[in-house]
Amino acid sequence: MKIPKQRKAYCPYCKKHTEHKVNATKKKQASSLTYGSKVRARRRGQARGTGNLGRYSKPAVTKFKMTGAKQSKKTDLRYECKVCKKSHLQGKGKRAKRVEFV
Ligand SMILES: [Zn+2]
Repeated sequence: MKIPKQRKAYCPYCKKHTEHKVNATKKKQASSLTYGSKVRARRRGQARGTGNLGRYSKPAVTKFKMTGAKQSKKTDLRYECKVCKKSHLQGKGKRAKRVEFV
């Protein structure tokens, strides 16, 4: 997905629309399972970490149904106001395989 480097957006600090610089948030260390999918996996008796008396009866994390199901990630953008230099996060991310700044 192509995203413009600059955009007019509402600044909650200036309380009006101003020119903003668009930045992608730094990549976080991806965990193989999110907390939510661990909870769902635990309900089905698949997740690790609730004690198994030392036995290895649970499959590897990569064998779980929920892991790696999605190919795209939601964009996580940060808008920096050019007037007050403060930044705020985007409201909602859109799914995209690749993010490109134009
Ligand atoms: Zn501002």
